[in-house]
Amino acid sequence: MNNEEIISRDLSVLWHPCTQMKDHEWLPLIPIKQAEGVWLEDFNGNRYLDAISSWWVNLFGHSNPEINAAIQQQTEKLEHVLLAGFTHEAVIELSEKLIALLPSGLDRCFYADNGSSAIEVALKMSFHYWRNLDFTKKTRFITLENSYHGETLGALAAGNVTLYKDTYAPLLMDVITVPSPDCFHRAEGESPEAYTRRMFEPMRATLEQHHHETCAVIIEPLVQCAGYMRMYEPVYLELLRKACDEFNVHLIADEIAVGFGRTGTLFACEQADISPDFICLSKGLTGGYLPLSVVATPNKIYEAFYDDYQTLRAFLHSHSYTGNAIGCSAALATLSIFEKNNVIAANQKLANHIRQATEHLKTHPHVAEVRQHGMITAIEMVQDKKTRSPYPWQERRGLRVYQHGLKNNMLLRPLGDVIYFMPPYIITPDEIDQMVKVATEGIDIATRD
Ligand SMILES: *Cc1c(COP(=O)(O)O)cnc(C)c1O
Repeated sequence: MNNEEIISRDLSVLWHPCTQMKDHEWLPLIPIKQAEGVWLEDFNGNRYLDAISSWWVNLFGHSNPEINAAIQQQTEKLEHVLLAGFTHEAVIELSEKLIALLPSGLDRCFYADNGSSAIEVALKMSFHYWRNLDFTKKTRFITLENSYHGETLGALAAGNVTLYKDTYAPLLMDVITVPSPDCFHRAEGESPEAYTRRMFEPMRATLEQHHHETCAVIIEPLVQCAGYMRMYEPVYLELLRKACDEFNVHLIADEIAVGFGRTGTLFACEQADISPDFICLSKGLTGGYLPLSVVATPNKIYEAFYDDYQTLRAFLHSHSYTGNAIGCSAALATLSIFEKNNVIAANQKLANHIRQATEHLKTHPHVAEVRQHGMITAIEMVQDKKTRSPYPWQERRGLRVYQHGLKNNMLLRPLGDVIYFMPPYIITPDEIDQMVKVATEGIDIATRD
């Protein structure tokens, strides 16, 4: 079996996610036969360094021996059992471990099977909490411009990336949208910290005006990943936590992408020393192996649902694969690698290496900004460096970088004209150099005319 045969079989039966399928008339689909560590291999023997962790999920490489072994052992014992009325060891142990690792005050774990579903859980739980306490006017959510929380209708409504959202607008609940602290828009000479602080003012004003009808503010701490890897500073989280307490509004932290070390700390909220009312985790939770997600919340919220059945206060929400045992075993193996290998400290060295390796791009005539939070680094291409005006989106310049990457053993998948690196944590300094070299050439080619 070679690439061409596999591609032709695929294109006659599949419909791929987030893809205009007509593009595949000229943009080849890449069939992967096997993978190990940071390397993916196709059916013709070409290799690709997975610089984006297969959409931000993989942490410790493909076919990781420790995670493989954990899954195998779990499969021999128990693959799955419903989590209503029943339980199992892996889900209990995972919950104990998560609660110990999460910011203090998060005491209860509720499971789902993907990121969007975790967002739906958090939104419904927040609304339902207030309802159980007779705050019946609280029916709305506050969200940030340029935010992303997933694709199901509730999660899509809570997000703000127009490319994904606008088409479905008539189907979506109405949310209150506040300008983002996205530091790309800071004034010349203004520090990211000062800009972040200044951009909290519209959030505070919105809370003042709408708190009586607001269940929660939902945010992605520090990096708006799907929103072109735009970044802001921890002070926003600190101010938001205080304001949410003051105005009796929940804080939902969507750490589905930034959790598990991506921003340099195990959870991004740690950098502001805050604890949210709900934290949503998925993606890296299983090391990139299996779909699993969790919403953790304080006992105070859990207790507002705890009552006699007849009061109808219970949270009657479930998904078939909630708390799947094999997924939990992959998550436990992932957490054990974090602990054993002191990953957060080791990543600091890798992050510094990436910072130094990308330094030269700051002076590139078509790069407006190179930004980084820990293990996430983004390079924004623009038409005019001085005014920061973008290229017309129809030109799809980022796609040229993608194509150049594929020809040079590199999986880069730019978001529009933003090239970014979010590699597995087992990447080596040499591989980082290779990754940045190919990206730099790609940027040169994409901005040549
Ligand atoms: C990926 C993502 C989601 C959605 O997760 P899925 O598993 O793709 O449904 C939600 N929020 C953020 C911040 C994400 O990056």
